[in-house]
Amino acid sequence: MTDSFKAFVIEDADGKPKGGFKHLTLADLPDNDVLVEVAYSTVNYKDGLAVSGKGRIARKLPMVAGIDLAGTVVESRSPDWKQGDRVIVNGWGLSETVWGGYAKFQRLKPEWLTRLPDAFTLEEAMGIGTAGYTASLCVDALEKWGVIQPGGKEVLVTGAAGGVGSVAVALLAKRGYPVTAATGRPETHDYLGSLGATSFIERGALSEKGAPLQKERWAGGVDAVGGQTLVTALSQTVYGGAIAACGLAGSADLPGTVLPHILRSVALLGVDSVMAPQPKRDAAWTRLARDLDKAHLKSMYEVQPFDALPDLATKILAGQIRGRVVVDIN
Ligand code: NDP
Repeated sequence: MTDSFKAFVIEDADGKPKGGFKHLTLADLPDNDVLVEVAYSTVNYKDGLAVSGKGRIARKLPMVAGIDLAGTVVESRSPDWKQGDRVIVNGWGLSETVWGGYAKFQRLKPEWLTRLPDAFTLEEAMGIGTAGYTASLCVDALEKWGVIQPGGKEVLVTGAAGGVGSVAVALLAKRGYPVTAATGRPETHDYLGSLGATSFIERGALSEKGAPLQKERWAGGVDAVGGQTLVTALSQTVYGGAIAACGLAGSADLPGTVLPHILRSVALLGVDSVMAPQPKRDAAWTRLARDLDKAHLKSMYEVQPFDALPDLATKILAGQIRGRVVVDIN
């Protein structure tokens, strides 16, 4: 084991969060029961905010950023985990209140770890990352609601070319739901079509204010965008349908009316990945192992070196990243 290792740490700089690479030792890590050697992490939108300093993600400083990690257990004081176990951690306050994945080693609480399904390598697990696991939680929520039908009415995915959106498109299509991808990047149509999207809608068509009840089109939807886009999606959802909302890439506002809910029984299903209980996580990862085609997964992500992290953070905030980015911590 190395004496010192590289980490991306957010520190206080004159009252503002500022990130940079530092060297840490094992003695610097929190005193949690499981020591994990991190192989890969990811860059999610929230990581972009934390790394660039554009958002106050860390609620205490100093903070090792990175909301995801995949690695191997090195030491464990917990009976639930042993040396050599392959694990993933998504959320649980990583990068907010808990030191996260941008470090070669991390000490974590046993209950934060999820066993990596055999279907995936550590790299692939991070190709999925929080974004993909959240997409899977959304599809679970829609299926539990019960209104989407294989071969039935369309299911809408907004922010389709992003991390959550791409995986949602692939998972829904695999189950036979007709998927309409809403994207602002027409150049991604071929890519989204290869994942299984059957039709496309320009994202601007959803982001303009319209009537509170519009023609019923969507049996359900996965929304990563929020704001007027979510309101429009709800206003176009069929009687009894549901939109699983997980993101705010467009806006955190919800500038709509109650009419779709009280006149059409449309449900707004909130989806949080950070504090999701372990059974939901296991179900989401089981779905990913079953339904996410390996060739599709490979086409969704690129692997980048740890050093590229600051640049990647800027790009994800500017909407210049297609799909997912895996960060090689090795
Ligand atoms: P990405 O940046 O990879 O994708 C977001 C996509 O949203 C973009 O690719 C773009 O899609 C679309 N988009 C961006 N800006 C706008 C805009 N102004 N108006 C309309 N569409 C826009 O992010 P992720 O997929 O990783 O995350 C998506 C959202 O989900 C984020 O808000 C993130 O914080 C949230 N999230 C929430 C989680 C939870 O637990 N609830 C967990 C993970 C993510 P396109 O190019 O196709 O138009």
